[in-house]
Amino acid sequence: MTLRLTVDGERWRRHLLATATAHPGIVPVCKGNGYGFTIGRLARRVQWLHEHAEQTGTPVDMLAVGTYRELAEAATRYDGDLLVLTPWRPVGGAVEVPEAHGHRVVHTISRLEDLRDLTDRDPRARFVLEQLTSMRRHGMTRRELVEAGHLLAERRLPGLQGMALHLPLNTSSHLGEVTRLINDMVAAGIGTRTVFVSHLTRDELTTLRATYPDFTIRPRIGTDLWLGDRGALQVSSTVLDAHPIERGEAFGYRGRSMPKSGHLLVVSGGTAHGIGLEAPTGDQSIRARAATLARGGMDAVGFVRSPFSIDGKQRLFAEPPHMQASMLFVPSGARVPAVGEDIDVRVRFTATDFDSVVVT
Ligand SMILES: *Cc1c(COP(=O)(O)O)cnc(C)c1O
Repeated sequence: MTLRLTVDGERWRRHLLATATAHPGIVPVCKGNGYGFTIGRLARRVQWLHEHAEQTGTPVDMLAVGTYRELAEAATRYDGDLLVLTPWRPVGGAVEVPEAHGHRVVHTISRLEDLRDLTDRDPRARFVLEQLTSMRRHGMTRRELVEAGHLLAERRLPGLQGMALHLPLNTSSHLGEVTRLINDMVAAGIGTRTVFVSHLTRDELTTLRATYPDFTIRPRIGTDLWLGDRGALQVSSTVLDAHPIERGEAFGYRGRSMPKSGHLLVVSGGTAHGIGLEAPTGDQSIRARAATLARGGMDAVGFVRSPFSIDGKQRLFAEPPHMQASMLFVPSGARVPAVGEDIDVRVRFTATDFDSVVVT
């Protein structure tokens, strides 16, 4: 009765090793739902990657979590440094980091006042300084960076581990932007030569390293590491029930009348797992989304496309997903899978809670 992620372990591990090999200095990102795997499982995998440093050519001495709350799950399964991606603020989890792993934490500082505040509390705190990018999410502007440079010098702060840049996905102008930001940082007199980046391609990283040979460029990678070889991942749902139904018969929470004859299939996987009405696509352009909506909109009799498929054919929801199960419509003539059989589901891994993850 499960929504299950089955991982072809050998293939997955091969991909992880290849990704680490291709990205020296990689900082694996283990945040949120752990990209479907859970943070704990990923943290153990990062430890394993570090233990394979001889093979990949890169030690993996740091992993990144998203929030302070996520630290505990990673800290007990991985020995290295723990970068927190959410910027430090003088409230909540950021000021209550447990002693046990506090010395391994690297904070992200995105405002001048936070640099002052954090190092007032702990002059030895370790941190990266985040620069504002075209994402405009968090980060210091060029002016703030100059002041941060003064503060670092004035207080002789020992904890600076690098700069951090969070770049948008898939833009063509990454390199120009990164060059500008690195130049700003050098001009501000920030005394580090390590830069943490996200979402740069291998070619962009190569170019960047050639442009700044005295810098260490460290890519933070989540999706392309954990989910980069989709062929190693299979998601399945269990058939829980199958009922023949005639046109005109009532079904579902609202007693809707069945517009066609066929079978109602009840399968595991509902809103609690993150199963949504819209079948996920990787392509999020407005046109692609409009196309998805058009396709995923209603069919002639008012059924909506589901992410579940049987024998390679995507099936329709008979009604919106329930909390832990979904009702599908299987038209007359199509094969009706048996109770207990597994069927395929397409999910957005970063938004799915699996009942079980099996690594073979
Ligand atoms: C999530 C995140 C990443 C990793 O993003 P992916 O697209 O999963 O590789 C990198 N940097 C920051 C700041 C993030 O929040």
